[in-house]
Parts: sequence; structure tokens; C-alpha cells
Amino acid sequence: MKILVSVKRVVDFNVKVRVKADGTGVETANVKMSMNPFDEIAVEEAVRLKEAGVATEIVVVSCGAQACQETLRTALAIGADRAILVETNEELQPLAVAKLLKKVTEKEQPGLVILGKQAIDDDANQTGQMLAALLNWPQATFASKVKISSGKAEVTREVDGGLETLSIKLPAIVTTDLRLNEPRYVTLPNIMKAKKKTLEILKPDALGVDVAPRLTTVKVVEPSKRKAGIKVPDAKALVDKLRNEAKVL
Ligand code: AMP
Repeated sequence: MKILVSVKRVVDFNVKVRVKADGTGVETANVKMSMNPFDEIAVEEAVRLKEAGVATEIVVVSCGAQACQETLRTALAIGADRAILVETNEELQPLAVAKLLKKVTEKEQPGLVILGKQAIDDDANQTGQMLAALLNWPQATFASKVKISSGKAEVTREVDGGLETLSIKLPAIVTTDLRLNEPRYVTLPNIMKAKKKTLEILKPDALGVDVAPRLTTVKVVEPSKRKAGIKVPDAKALVDKLRNEAKVL
């Protein structure tokens, strides 16, 4: 079985994100970029499935600017076999990405597509669901455990009340949650090997996808600053403030 994994290049999770002065978005110039953490988990899961003899080939795909090649090389160093960049300098919204991934899925015919549950830059949590709808494939989102057997995926999901286990027929879409696995560190020999793996470049036009944004960002603002706290002399004063000032009791 072939597995297709999508990887997005995002601002590194350790970076303190700054909003652009004109409020049109966040600053990405001269900022450390990395693979979306949920996508790292997706690549790791695919590699584990290959190591377990369930998968035979792992193809990673990223949509965006030329610099996404770096993210794809990281995925190849984790253990993916081949990479595809759908190259564009346009701003890509989840629907456009889902349409591009649909075309790549139709071309590659994987038995399973694994995506992150959300990208930590737009926090949209939409692409996997949209892709499942466009392909009319079953989906299991927020996976914390995946088991593949006899043409089916058994997927455990963390829900409010506990753990839910779904059985879905392959081919299917799975999106990863944080507890699915802990991605391995990329080793230097694997980084070197990754440089020799195939990286194909496609263009949205050639795939027949119009990636024009459908949504307009009205404005982006920084979260409001927290006010400084105060010290209260004793528990009685605290209860009084909670009751009469904060009115939470
Ligand atoms: P989102 O719906 O934007 O929160 O993203 C959910 C998941 O979709 C991400 O974790 C990625 O696996 C995938 N994805 C979103 N945007 C891209 C992109 N530009 N290139 C590749 N994968 C993407």
C-alpha cells in the first residue's frame, strides 16, 4: 500500500509570532520556518507503517513556494521515499490545498492519505476534512492510534468523553493528533540520503486547479496584553474580590 502524506511549511513553533504593522498577517520574513508539527507526526506514522510491513511506499507532498523543498527534504530524511512540490507563490487557503491534494491523490492512487489535524499557522483544521469530501472517501480525524488490517483502518480518536475507535474502509483520510507518536530525530546520514531522493515539481495550472483565495482576511491583531496581577493580604480579601469585583462567585 502506498501512503501519501501532506507536509506544510510553517513558522517554527518556538518562534514568537509577530503581527505585521499593517495588520494584514504575520511576519514571515527572516523567521525560522519548519515542518508543521502535526505533519511530522504524520510522516513518522507512515514510516512506522512501512517499517511494520504495512506500507510499501511513502510519498510526501507540499503546496507552496520553492522553499517548501526544504520541508520535503526533512520528510525524506525521516523516511519518506519520494516528494512532490506543488509550487506556487499564491497564498493558499485550505480549500485550494484540498483541491491540489485531490489531484495528487488521483495521480498517485494511495491506499491512505495522512495529514496533520491542523496547521499551527492558520489553525484552520479544514484541509483533511475538505479532501475527504472532495474525494468522497471515509475520514478519521484527530487520530491517536492507527491500525491497518484487511483493507480497513482502525483509528482511535480522543474525544471529550474518552476514546472513540472507528473502523473505516481504505482508501481513506486520516488526520493526526499529538499523541499518535513521537517523531524520531533526523540523523545526518539520513539527511545525506534524502538529498538523492526524487523531488517532483508540479504547478497548480497543470493540475487544473484554481487556487485563488475565496476568503478575505479583514485584519490580524496581537492578543491583548495581560494586566499585571495584585497581591491580596489573605483568603478573606481574595473571596471578597472574587465575589464583588470579578463577580465570579
Ligand atoms: P489546516 O486545515 O490548514 O489546519 O491544515 C491541516 C493539514 O493540511 C496540515 O497539517 C497539512 O497536513 C495539510 N496542509 C495544509 N496546508 C498545506 C500545504 N500548503 N501543503 C501541504 N499540506 C498542507
